[in-house]
Amino acid sequence: MSATAPPPPLSADRQALVEAVLAATRRAVGARDSMVALHEPEFAGREREYVQDCLDSGWVSSIGAYVERFERALADYTGAAHVAATVNGTAALHLCLKLAGVQPGDEVLTPALCFVATANAVSHCGATPHLVDSEFTSLGVDAVALDVHLSEMAERRGDVCVNRRTGATIRALVVMHSFGHPADLDALADLAARWGLVLVEDAAESLGSFYKGRHTGRHGRLAALSFNGNKVITTGGGGAVLTDDAELGRRARHLSTTARVPDRWNFVHDEVAWNYRMPNLNAALGCAQMEVLPRYVDEKRALAARYREAVAAVPGLRFVDEPTGTRSNFWLVAVLLPTADASMRDALLERLNAEGLMSRPVWRLMHHLPMYANAPRAPLPVAESIEARLINLPSSPKLGRGA
Ligand SMILES: *Cc1c(COP(=O)(O)O)cnc(C)c1O
Repeated sequence: MSATAPPPPLSADRQALVEAVLAATRRAVGARDSMVALHEPEFAGREREYVQDCLDSGWVSSIGAYVERFERALADYTGAAHVAATVNGTAALHLCLKLAGVQPGDEVLTPALCFVATANAVSHCGATPHLVDSEFTSLGVDAVALDVHLSEMAERRGDVCVNRRTGATIRALVVMHSFGHPADLDALADLAARWGLVLVEDAAESLGSFYKGRHTGRHGRLAALSFNGNKVITTGGGGAVLTDDAELGRRARHLSTTARVPDRWNFVHDEVAWNYRMPNLNAALGCAQMEVLPRYVDEKRALAARYREAVAAVPGLRFVDEPTGTRSNFWLVAVLLPTADASMRDALLERLNAEGLMSRPVWRLMHHLPMYANAPRAPLPVAESIEARLINLPSSPKLGRGA
């Protein structure tokens, strides 16, 4: 079928499903007269005041009081001992992987079901992403399936894990908390310890999400946050490295500031590094956003509760809920269609978007992208199924307000 041919008409029961999902979405978000965005940033706090203060002071760039204040706010909220704010989440991930000891030629286990930045951060280290499957409950890495896969193709040699097929060291495991739902961290930390893998958390989507009472990003050796425009809170662009290790925290700062050694005026740099430090202007925005974060999370959870109830009325449709023992920020509400049928998913997306309810499919799996088509990978049956079945629905905090 050519790309321009109209899609085949939907059968009666598929048409009924489209109408039922549309009705459930309308019920959850309430009556709205304009286009409902997938996730909209909001600046109703002290953003203008803090940004104006930056402009008035002249401190807009990579040095300034707001950067440290923002880092302190993140440390207080997450409980992480050390925080280094960066220009974006991808840069934070790159630093995490460098600090995890990832070297050119290594492999790094990463979910196939993920935003592309994670695999790219691995590639920027000269390493290869080795794609692993997810589980339906959390949408995160499946520890049991990964254990089976490693038993088949890897072995532990001394302190490290080696791919028996390629001979490469499998240095680290990156887990990601999809749409804010914490992955099965106890099982993943146990697996990482048994196999000699450094556990890194991509917590870009999970600021405000807790696993067994502890904030996500505090279960691995290092973690990355993102404050891109579509995330729970935003600094325009931004990210942060979290760690409880003082030396790694010091290294994260050093590597993000061109490895400049403090000196009165001489330009002394002691290694090849990056200009990854968050500018003060962005941090000013972040300080104001941190003040409203707890409210945003409450509102998103209230909205999720309404979706949960509305979705329960649609036979076969599954609301992706927070796993037992976790508290999710519900960054993006996700539902799973009854069958893995991409044409059904696309028909639904067409309809919802035409009705002004912005909705999106999940990311294309990494090995379905040209640059990762030949990446080493485990069997990916669950990720493949989720790719064809998942859609994200409007999730802005304001939709959970009042009502
Ligand atoms: C947003 C995001 C990133 C990257 O963050 P940027 O700030 O956009 O660079 C990385 N991983 C995941 C899972 C994300 O959702």
